Amino acid sequence: MEQIKRYAFEGEVIEVPLLWDEDTQTYVEDYKSVIENPIYSPSGRPVLLTIEDACPYTDLADDDPASIDCGSCRHYHQFPGSLLGVCRNEQRRSGVKPKRTKARAKKEDTT
Ligand code: SF4
Repeated sequence: MEQIKRYAFEGEVIEVPLLWDEDTQTYVEDYKSVIENPIYSPSGRPVLLTIEDACPYTDLADDDPASIDCGSCRHYHQFPGSLLGVCRNEQRRSGVKPKRTKARAKKEDTT
C-alpha cells in the first residue's frame, strides 16, 4: 500500500508520496518521485522542491545574488518540515497559458 503524507493549504489537500528509509526506519517524503512525476494541488498549483531553479515568472524576495530558487520567491509557500512547497503564481498553474511578462520577454528576446 502506497504511503502518503497530506498537507492542507488554502482549502486544498495536497498529497505527497512517502518511501521507507532503512537508515532511519521511518517513512520519508519521496522527493525523487516528485521530481520524476510532478504533482499538483487539486486546483493545478505545482508542488516544487525549494531548491528548484527560479522560473521566468519569479518574484524574488530580495536582490541577493544567492536568491536563485523557488525558496527565494514570494509565490512559494514551503510546507513545514519539508523541502516541498506550493507555487501560488497563477502563471504556473496547470492549464493556464502563461502571459508574456517583461522578464519573460527579455529572456526570450536574448536567447
Ligand atoms: S513563480 Fe513559482 S515556479 Fe516560479 S520561481 Fe516562484 S515559486 Fe518557483
